[in-house]
Formats: sequence, C-alpha cells, structure tokens
Amino acid sequence: MGALEIVLLPCLADNYCVLLHEPDSGETAAIDAPSAAAIKAALVERGWRLNHLFITHHHADHTGGVAELKAFYGTTVTGPEAEADRIPGLTRAVTAASDLEFAGHPIKVLETPGHTLGHVTYYFPNDGLVFTGDTLFSLGCGKIFEGEPEMMWDSLSKIAALPDETEIYCGHEYTLNNARFALTVEPENEVLKKRVAEVEAMRTAGKPTLPTTVALEQATNPFLRPKSRAIQARLGMLGAPEWEVFARLRQLKNKA
Ligand code: ZN
Ligand code: FE
Repeated sequence: MGALEIVLLPCLADNYCVLLHEPDSGETAAIDAPSAAAIKAALVERGWRLNHLFITHHHADHTGGVAELKAFYGTTVTGPEAEADRIPGLTRAVTAASDLEFAGHPIKVLETPGHTLGHVTYYFPNDGLVFTGDTLFSLGCGKIFEGEPEMMWDSLSKIAALPDETEIYCGHEYTLNNARFALTVEPENEVLKKRVAEVEAMRTAGKPTLPTTVALEQATNPFLRPKSRAIQARLGMLGAPEWEVFARLRQLKNKA
C-alpha cells in the first residue's frame, strides 16, 4: 500500500474535486463530482479509471457528475445515509459508524450537519487528510442552509479537533472572499494577515489556496475562533458561549 497521489481539480466556477490515486493497486477515488467532463478529462490525462466516488452532500455542484461517471466507469458511489434519497446512484450509504477504506487506507466518516442535514466529512487518519466539502472552508465555513448554528458549530468543532498537521481539502475556492471578512472581525491577528498576503499572491498567480491545515485554520479562521477575546470584544459578546459567537459571525458574514 503506497502513499496516495492527490490531484486538486478545479471544476465549474469555484468548486473543487479531489482525485486520490493509489499507485500499487491502481485504484482511483474522487471526493465529490461537480462535473463529469472535467473529472473524465483529468483521468484520461493520467490514464486512470475512477473506481470510487465519495460524496459529501447532496447539492448539485457536488453530485452533478455522479450519474455519468457511474455509468461510464461503474464507479461505486458512497454518500451520507441521511441524504440517500437525494443522491441518485448511491451504492453505499454511510454514517459515523461505517467501516470505510480506500485501497487499504482507512477512512473515518464524521457527521458534520449544518450546511445540509446529512453532510459528511471524510477523514483519512493514516494519511493525515480530511475532505470537508461545504462544512469548513479555508478562512470560512459553509452557509447554514438546512441546520441550526449550534449544530454547525458542533460539526466544525469535530474538524477542529483533528490533529494539527491534518491537511484540509474543501469543496470551494472561497478563500480570498473569506479573507476579507476575516480581516474585518480580527484585524489584529498577525497570522491571519500573513495568510491573507499569501492567499492574495496565490490567487494572483492562479494557484489554489488549498490544502490548508487544522493548525492554520485554528489560528486564522474566524469561524473556529469564537474563543478569541478580540473577536468577542468586537462583536460586543465578551464571555458569550462559543456557539453564540459563531452564530453571530455567520450572520454577519451572510450580510457582508
Ligand atoms: Zn453545498
Ligand atoms: Fe458547494
């Protein structure tokens, strides 16, 4: 069992699909399927076939390519049990209790509802990788479309509790937009300022801002930092429960 090759593939306007390839077995997996055409092209270029799809949630910009990829490659389609009726073509419905692996690499399913009620995050403990879909973004988090703020905070906390060095891949390239909001709520954060300068340079060069890490997000992402005294003070919420500060941040970002 070899190390995984990782391809971060921009799809549609600002989505990402991640391809994982295990060279010894030749197996390939994809996290989310925004576009069958873009994914097929990337596979053809490398001479890979798609064996497995891991879907984070039911939104069309994450599942639009499922039917075509499954028909073409006979791909297995894994996704959240709670959204089984909303993800056509699902072959394996999973929960946090599921035993999952890809080419000998164990995968832990984290239930991370809030953006959607069944949203799951795929954590590869032996590889130090996590795929957070639309729950955690770099310097931001997903909109709470189906859940409640307290639920979303709980979901984000599960990701934040992973080892510091864990590499995070998320579903969208929203980092620069998120950075502008982050600076308005914690302008005194030096690590954030440095990260924003790096993000600006990466985007100017047309490069992705991912992966990020658990440690970097804990230090810079306002949605993981409701404990920050500076943020609490700026919102007039000193000493408020973390999930309430988080909820207020999410509300402010929606209006930004
Ligand atoms: Zn979504
Ligand atoms: Fe999305």
